[in-house]
Amino acid sequence: MSDDFDLVVLGAGSGGVAASRRAAAHGARVLIAEASRVGGTCVIRGCVPKKLMMYAAGYAQAFDEARSYGWSGTVPSFEMHRWADAKAAEIDRLEAIYRKLLADSGVELAQGRAQLMGGGRVAIGSRIVRATRILVATGGAPAHDALPGLATAMTSNDVLDMRALPASLLVVGGGYIAVEFAAILAGLGAKVTLAFRDTLPLRGFDIDLRKRLAQALAGRGIDLAAGVALTTLSHGADGYTLHRADGSTLQASAALNATGRRPNTADLGLEAAGVQLDSRGAIAVDADSRTSAPGIWAIGDVTQRVNLTPVAIAEGRAFADTEFGRRPTRVDHRTVASAVFTDPPIATVGLSEADAAKRGPVDIYESEFRPMKTAFAGSAARTYMKLVVDGLSDRVLGVHMIGADAPEIVQSLAVALTCGATKRDFDRTVAVHPTAAEEFVLMREPARRVAGASSRSQ
Ligand code: NDP
Repeated sequence: MSDDFDLVVLGAGSGGVAASRRAAAHGARVLIAEASRVGGTCVIRGCVPKKLMMYAAGYAQAFDEARSYGWSGTVPSFEMHRWADAKAAEIDRLEAIYRKLLADSGVELAQGRAQLMGGGRVAIGSRIVRATRILVATGGAPAHDALPGLATAMTSNDVLDMRALPASLLVVGGGYIAVEFAAILAGLGAKVTLAFRDTLPLRGFDIDLRKRLAQALAGRGIDLAAGVALTTLSHGADGYTLHRADGSTLQASAALNATGRRPNTADLGLEAAGVQLDSRGAIAVDADSRTSAPGIWAIGDVTQRVNLTPVAIAEGRAFADTEFGRRPTRVDHRTVASAVFTDPPIATVGLSEADAAKRGPVDIYESEFRPMKTAFAGSAARTYMKLVVDGLSDRVLGVHMIGADAPEIVQSLAVALTCGATKRDFDRTVAVHPTAAEEFVLMREPARRVAGASSRSQ
């Protein structure tokens, strides 16, 4: 068999696998190279095991609530090693499915580190293959350089492989990974401190979600150490100490570095192949995922556009449809929904109130209530929902929610936003009762009108 391919993909994560299968479905001869496990960050050391850990943590509250609903019984305890074994078996199962999907699609899998050699050639170990088109989908990895000493801390990869719960955990950072693991590990019973430099977690999210998330995390017993720059992390016999710019220190027996991720671009031969990086160290691409080198494309986290699994998959399929399916397709990165799996979870699609107000006047509709299920159990936990509506066109520009099932609810509403739904469309939608989601179609009067900093034409 010749080593000439129509497409060689570097990286068998969500984006690379989706692109290679779609290209093969269009009739291309495809090889995908992977140095590690098939499935990439999301399946092996990200979204999937994280969510399995989140489900484990959720039982603590469920056991508690059950008593209010009339259940009684022995007090349960969590054995992390049992969860770890079950998780490992589930990830093995999913990896096997990914491998089978590739094989059934006619994509050849080559295990080994791949390197671009220029002239359409790629080295995978000692094997050299040739391709008409090359796709780089090598993803990203935890960064260690935000402050000195971070390399001694765990990353999200390590937390997902823990077999015992630390007594106390210092989470460094206030982004997606920081707040998710802070909530999960606190739910499992660890004493968690969340240290971040801004006054609220989740920079970039709508301010009303950020405020309520901070309250909810504190309500779960998490110590929020906010608003002070972080300087160094040190590690000694007593555990970890985080030094802050005001001279204060924070201590815990374990530490998680959650200060962001970097694109995996090292040792790929990018320079030799003429592939340029942008100022952040990501592969620079155009709207069709073309790099600066003819015949080479890049998708997913290695390009740092919107670092989410479904975006990488959409970019991979758009590339394959355009190049092999004679169906030019581009991904619209403007309306991408996302969820943060904290307790309670957050989900959002479209513009925040602040970003929408930069474009013109907006009407803000809100609803806040104690959800039926937990209120019955005596909990003070609240759900909050917000619609950001264009004050001139009535179009819904943003949907934001913190509360149980927020990711499931907002995923459905993302369809309405993608279709350009107006507030009037929401109003004429009949509610499903009794649900939390119905509040999104029952918001009658705006809570406020925000004047808008500039006119739309500017
Ligand atoms: P994020 O960019 O979300 O967060 C990084 C955090 O590190 C921020 O709080 C940032 O603070 C802080 N930080 C960075 N540098 C410093 C510094 N020098 N001193 C103090 N704090 C610092 O990255 P994550 O690693 O959490 O996640 C990476 C990406 O993975 C996300 O952007 C997301 O796209 C994806 N992801 C998505 C998930 C989901 O969809 N549910 C789950 C997990 C990850 P500041 O804000 O002040 O800059």
